[in-house]
Amino acid sequence: MKIIKSFNVLNRELNFNKNIGFVPTMGSLHKGHIYLIKKAKFKLRKVLVSIYVNPTQFNEKKDFNRYPRNIDKDISILRKLGVDYVFVPNNNEIYNKGIKRKIKISKKDKVLCARRRIGHFEGVLAVINRLLENINAKFMYLGEKDYQQIFLIKKYLQNKFKTKIVGCKTIRNKNKLPLSSRNILLNKKSLKNSENISKILYNFKRRITYKFSDSKLLESYLLKIKLLCDKVEYFEIRNSQNLSKKFTKKNFKIFIAYKQGNVRLIDNF
Ligand code: AMP
Repeated sequence: MKIIKSFNVLNRELNFNKNIGFVPTMGSLHKGHIYLIKKAKFKLRKVLVSIYVNPTQFNEKKDFNRYPRNIDKDISILRKLGVDYVFVPNNNEIYNKGIKRKIKISKKDKVLCARRRIGHFEGVLAVINRLLENINAKFMYLGEKDYQQIFLIKKYLQNKFKTKIVGCKTIRNKNKLPLSSRNILLNKKSLKNSENISKILYNFKRRITYKFSDSKLLESYLLKIKLLCDKVEYFEIRNSQNLSKKFTKKNFKIFIAYKQGNVRLIDNF
């Protein structure tokens, strides 16, 4: 496995190899990331994983500083998985030599996390754009846990690159909580409460699937959820294709963002 820190070396190593499966991450790898990597390995000859905690997608410096990092463990996980390349750029590599123009998100798309986390997705798009410009991957694997992220990357970047974006299912623990690098920041009680929130969402989804008019019960579900966390940033049902509020029983998705202390979590069903 080759560990690469600069775009120069990366370009030399990849040498226009078009058969690359790419998995961008912020590290602190868990079974959710591993699932994406296995998908890539199954399909392609060479797999590249990037690990980069991107400062511009954090709204608060404290949140950026607190974000879990565990590079040695990550490298050993990736080695065992048989990953071919790990790209670990520093900020200088990503920002000083690249990123000429910011990709702006339209007003229409400023919903859910894009409305609450000002500048977050602009940061995500900037870094993914920079990576794709250099990697030229055949496929890029992204998790549906970050559903809006996939939606916006497809909308704003897909046309610029040949890379095909593959959305992968959310990997959850046995109590339905999506695996997330941030979960280790939760104490026992917040973890339990978050698991219960995911169970509530799961049941609400099933209920609406069974009887569509139950989507009107959103407010009563919100009350239950409020008892299990410190703050609900949003709790909404939206169209899974375009994220508008016009949904049908065939294309709806439930989205939530909430806080346990200073830890912000998201989920969707
Ligand atoms: P992150 O390191 O959190 O930026 O995530 C890197 C990639 O892994 C993103 O495409 C995420 O959507 C994906 N991912 C994170 N958690 C999960 C999960 N529990 N299941 C599936 N994919 C995930």
